[in-house]
Amino acid sequence: MVSDSKDLRLARFSCSAHLQRQWPEDLGAEVAFAGRSNVGKSSALNAITGQSRLARTSKTPGRTQQIVFFTVDPNRRLVDLPGYGYAKVPHQLQKHWGKMVRHYLENRIALRGLILPIDIRRGFNRLDKQLLDWCGHRELPVHILLTKSDKLSKAASNIALVDLEREIRWDQTTVQLFSVLHKIGIEAAGIKILEWLEGSH
Ligand code: GDP
Repeated sequence: MVSDSKDLRLARFSCSAHLQRQWPEDLGAEVAFAGRSNVGKSSALNAITGQSRLARTSKTPGRTQQIVFFTVDPNRRLVDLPGYGYAKVPHQLQKHWGKMVRHYLENRIALRGLILPIDIRRGFNRLDKQLLDWCGHRELPVHILLTKSDKLSKAASNIALVDLEREIRWDQTTVQLFSVLHKIGIEAAGIKILEWLEGSH
């Protein structure tokens, strides 16, 4: 199959799930998005799939505690994991997030890679690093989108990228600049996702 980021435009909502038994059958390949609340994860998903309302951009961060599955074709899916780290979310809910996401990352056979948006002005926090550790343990490749890179100059963006790369301890991690607003890196992110999705064909 030819890599064409237009494929991702076929993504459609499939289901949202609290429990493993609600997940679609664990066949084919999928790529998941995980990230801190308000980092621009939904905007990234929407831009990469060329759909303005596929993932709901969060007006009340921390609201969605479900895993949302989107079907690209019968064998390929995109997955939106619940956002984390919103200050007002009670500790109990934060723990629930950790359990749910870790369970998904550790048990999902179809999972080929994780897209991790990080706000270019903020860098990693504790939960971002925890997520990278889980991926490292599972040997799952990670691709980091340095979101909202329109907020920094080109030079400052490149410095932030190099600084962040230095902190990465999981060697199957790649990083790129990303901005929905200035349309930076949207196609490159789509190509990465398709590489992962098609690697299993
Ligand atoms: P989520 O909580 O991670 O899903 O984040 P959202 O996609 O809902 O975005 C959170 C906020 O960041 C919204 O106000 C978006 O408009 C804003 N945002 C998202 N992407 C960009 C970007 O590329 N540049 C800028 N400047 N703001 C962005």
